[in-house]
Amino acid sequence: MNICVIGTGYVGLVTGVSLSEIGHHVICIDVDEDKVTKMKKGISPIYEPGLSELMAKNIKEKRLRFTTSHSEGLQQAAVVYIAVGTPENKDGSADLSFVAQAAKDIAENVEHDVIVVTKSTVPVGTNAMIKEIVQTHLSDGLQVEVVSNPEFLKEGSAIHDSFHGDRIVIGAENEQAFSIIEEINQPFRVPIFKTDIKSAEMIKYASNAFLATKISFINEISNICELLGANIENVSTGMGLDQRIGSQFLKAGIGYGGSCFPKDTKALIQIAGNVEYEFELLKGVVNVNKKQQGILIGKLNDCLPVISGKKIAVLGLAFKPNTDDMRESASILITEELIKLGAEVVAYDPIAMDNAKTILSSKVQYADSIERAVDNSDAVLILTDWDEIKNVDLAVFHKMKRPLVIDGRNCFTLEAMEKNGIDYHSIGRPVSA
Ligand code: NAD
Repeated sequence: MNICVIGTGYVGLVTGVSLSEIGHHVICIDVDEDKVTKMKKGISPIYEPGLSELMAKNIKEKRLRFTTSHSEGLQQAAVVYIAVGTPENKDGSADLSFVAQAAKDIAENVEHDVIVVTKSTVPVGTNAMIKEIVQTHLSDGLQVEVVSNPEFLKEGSAIHDSFHGDRIVIGAENEQAFSIIEEINQPFRVPIFKTDIKSAEMIKYASNAFLATKISFINEISNICELLGANIENVSTGMGLDQRIGSQFLKAGIGYGGSCFPKDTKALIQIAGNVEYEFELLKGVVNVNKKQQGILIGKLNDCLPVISGKKIAVLGLAFKPNTDDMRESASILITEELIKLGAEVVAYDPIAMDNAKTILSSKVQYADSIERAVDNSDAVLILTDWDEIKNVDLAVFHKMKRPLVIDGRNCFTLEAMEKNGIDYHSIGRPVSA
């Protein structure tokens, strides 16, 4: 099948590469010339485990190409995936301008009937809007069908998720279009759930909102545990053994971040608001997360009443491990606050430092190892649970002025920190010193 993917971010590039890996001929379009130049050379513009290898393989086997030209990309494609961003508007709603532009690009460049598959996360009704835009601008006599196919990959394991996902959701109203998209996806051997377009659009938002709710819920429980002297790890384990609850997404920490949960929760509040429904529970989830992202500063302040002039080492900047994505990472809010309080901030992240330099305050300094960041510091804040951080030799903390570690991701056991004489403050667990 000749497939075109519009947008080569985390979703578009992974989709294009995965579809080429199962045998389709894929051309990916992006308006970002630098990205396309890199991808043509087989260099992935994003960090995602396993992506570069599959990309190189499929370019070599001539199933995968890249272009900035919509006419070149759309010329032969029977099926076009839209995978452009749907960022947050000021009021929290989803900005659909990139999706609308992609729809126009399709209409203005295809010269045959086309099936448009929407991978981007879009509010209920957007596929109908896409169909209308394409049909309006399409040459006379040509037909468009739309299919909603929301993406559930997780950054950091996106390639794995494409081949081992829990389900592929296909929302379609036209049987022939559904069969074609089903056939395209068959080689992934992932269960396919067929539904109507509006429900497919809603499944994506509802899934992300539910996962965000689990995170905010366990974070609230962890805060109560701290006040009562219970241990959140034991509580989560005990809860997770109940199969109705499940053990995933019950890890307390400094809240969710990234390019999806923050914007998708706010968008769903807006989607509900548009039909005059107040989604009170989800509003609570969003507020709890905002509060939780800042919780480490309070803990630091309790230990160091004067932060001004102190050297604070920040370990981990990406919103979660195994990605270079900094979007909505708690590290943005936390480093901003530390700088405001007059701290000297020295940060380290195994992968995300290049991206961080474009986003964080220019006053943040960067170290090229955990050891260099921690050296002679007054306190260490841990923001991302990278394996490299979790597996660090605890002796490194004795290079500090006095070993004081404030851990937003519960990377270490209380016993190990106590044994090593480290003043250790984590989330939802007793202090060990
Ligand atoms: P991204 O911002 O990383 O990438 C979007 C890309 O689209 C950019 O490279 C941009 O240059 C390109 N683009 C924009 N308009 C274009 C046009 N008209 N023609 C060609 N290229 C164009 O976005 P992302 O993180 O990959 O997310 C894409 C969508 O998928 C969003 O709706 C997001 O909510 C959803 N999603 C993301 C994830 C994730 O983990 N990142 C997971 C599931 C769903």
